[in-house]
Amino acid sequence: MSDVPKTHPRYLSLTLRDTIVAGVEQGITSIHGLIAHGRGEAFDYLIGETTQPFAIQAIHAAAAMLRLAEHPVISVNGNVAALAPEALIQLGQVLNAPLEVNIFHTETGREQRIREHLLKHSAPDVLMPTTDAQLSYIDSNRKFVHPEGIFKADVVFVPLEDGDRCEALRKMGKAVVTVDLNPMSRTAQQASITIVDNVVRALPLLCKEIRNFSDPTAEDTVARYSNKAVLKQALEHISRCGNG
Ligand code: ATP
Ligand code: MG
Repeated sequence: MSDVPKTHPRYLSLTLRDTIVAGVEQGITSIHGLIAHGRGEAFDYLIGETTQPFAIQAIHAAAAMLRLAEHPVISVNGNVAALAPEALIQLGQVLNAPLEVNIFHTETGREQRIREHLLKHSAPDVLMPTTDAQLSYIDSNRKFVHPEGIFKADVVFVPLEDGDRCEALRKMGKAVVTVDLNPMSRTAQQASITIVDNVVRALPLLCKEIRNFSDPTAEDTVARYSNKAVLKQALEHISRCGNG
């Protein structure tokens, strides 16, 4: 870790950079993941590096959707595994949902290292991609899934998703909940629910919301939710900040 002083105005952001760099050094995060992280940082800067009301609204709807799901599954890539392993595991526990490794760049052994990293953080189990079950509408390595995991899921929670797979999951009739700092990414636009926030802030809030969830009108909450409206609010927030 670098020695960023706590008083540095960008302390948290710089600490996250250290965490993602450590992920690469441990062979959990792809080197390409650094670029994705940089894109996220830029949008985090624009939204003010705090959880905004549009994210809170999406978190509430996501909690309802995940609570109502029959077979929710949490998809894990190398960035989120490095940034928020504990929160991912907690989410799996509150939902009684499996974690499943699914990555785009398959450097040798990286899938296995992500699994081991999560097990070391006390994940009860971690599903791995298989050749027994494949997603339709996608050609990359991310099509290989677990038959009891993403393949069977009705709702997939996929933070920091790539647009291609989000589209494939939606075409297969699955609902997708994502966390993506860029409200304009294809993922953000195509997901059922997009939490426009940093995954390190959003995940603990989502866990808390699910744990305390007592909305008797959860179905209505999901039905009334408009992702389009939430993304519009995020974009308006960004342009207001840009105008001073
Ligand atoms: P898409 O494929 O959906 O169009 P993209 O190609 O621009 O998106 P990817 O590299 O596929 O980007 O995915 C990374 C996404 O994750 C980006 O939209 C980026 O803003 C977002 N992101 C990166 N780090 C974080 C983070 N810590 N929290 C939330 N979102 C993040
Ligand atoms: Mg992409």
